Amino acid sequence: MKIHEVDARGIFSRFSLPVPPSRLITEAEQARAAAGELGCPVVVKAQVLVGGRGKAGGVKLASTPAEAVEKARSILGMDIKGLTVEKVLIAKAVDIAEEFYAGMVIDRISRKPLMMISPAGGIDIEEVARSTPEKILKVKIDPATGLLPFQVRRMASFLTGDKEIARQLGPVFTALYQAFMEVDASLAEINPLVVDPQGRVWAIDAKINIDDNSLFRHRDLAGMRDESAEDPGEVEARNSDLSFVKLDGNIGCIVNGAGLAMATMDMIKHYGAEPANFLDIGGSSNPEKVLAAMKIILRDKNVKAILINIFGGITRCDDVAKGLIEARKNLKMDVPLIVRLTGTNEEEAKKIIRGTDLVSAESMDDGVKKAIEMAGR
Ligand code: GDP
Ligand code: MN
Repeated sequence: MKIHEVDARGIFSRFSLPVPPSRLITEAEQARAAAGELGCPVVVKAQVLVGGRGKAGGVKLASTPAEAVEKARSILGMDIKGLTVEKVLIAKAVDIAEEFYAGMVIDRISRKPLMMISPAGGIDIEEVARSTPEKILKVKIDPATGLLPFQVRRMASFLTGDKEIARQLGPVFTALYQAFMEVDASLAEINPLVVDPQGRVWAIDAKINIDDNSLFRHRDLAGMRDESAEDPGEVEARNSDLSFVKLDGNIGCIVNGAGLAMATMDMIKHYGAEPANFLDIGGSSNPEKVLAAMKIILRDKNVKAILINIFGGITRCDDVAKGLIEARKNLKMDVPLIVRLTGTNEEEAKKIIRGTDLVSAESMDDGVKKAIEMAGR
């Protein structure tokens, strides 16, 4: 789950990161009072869930309250990478002498939290990684010990030779690590982390992605979700309690169980085609879920065939077959449905499907081949 900069700033502040004060507004005129209270200059920042707002014109400095209103007016309603700006943050501006990068991710290879530091701040870290990878220091952190003092010193000296700045950076790294761990983030980033001309360190941008699987223990954070920036199919799937990931191929998949769903995608690729999605309808495949899944998949105009691959255990194949026929009737669709049902009440299911326009498959292999063939027509 991506959260807005204003919320990420709130979390960073709770961990005592040096975040300049700010106000969130929704009407341009409110910028006047906000800028007045904060003191100019201020920076007017679009709150949208995409990176690179600065380059897109969504971050502008203002030196008077009147100018803040004008800048807020130009940014509100702006379209940034397909998202409409509905809120802007008015933040106290910082004079920038130096710009660094500091970020936290999970390193899948070492299976540890990883802190990344770079003296090349303010630009895309992916770009730095490509063109000047030597400017990034990566530090793996053992969660059992946390960030260790020698690691903090190494990172600080990677960024600066100035003792006074280094002294301020230590607590910044520690707080960034703590915030990342505490909210179960998958990413926490300060870009840029700046030094002002007086030598003070500030976190002037804040980005946090929260691991969706941890939200059950972060009720307070769940309210920060903004569905406007998410794929509508993924939003609907989450609300229907389905695991769905949209992909770029043309074969829709409805499968029960994540393992079988992965195997189905692998087999589609094995035969040279591409799945349109990953979709796990869960252990029990009740008809409502099948229907919801079908609707979500049909939203994708690339889909040329849908493969339903169900392993009946507790789930009865005849129930699923009935649900499918019902869904077929109720939803307007012209894509072929290829159905592979195996397990409990498999024979009854086959009888139900016979004589309908659903295509019955003998095996998973057969189902995948048929789906690919029919998608190609
Ligand atoms: P992003 O483009 O979405 O990452 O948004 P940022 O918050 O990082 O802002 C983009 C750029 O605007 C920064 O890299 C800075 O160059 C500039 N900027 C943002 N806040 C300030 C500020 O307080 N003072 C100054 N001088 N520049 C700022
Ligand atoms: Mn930034």
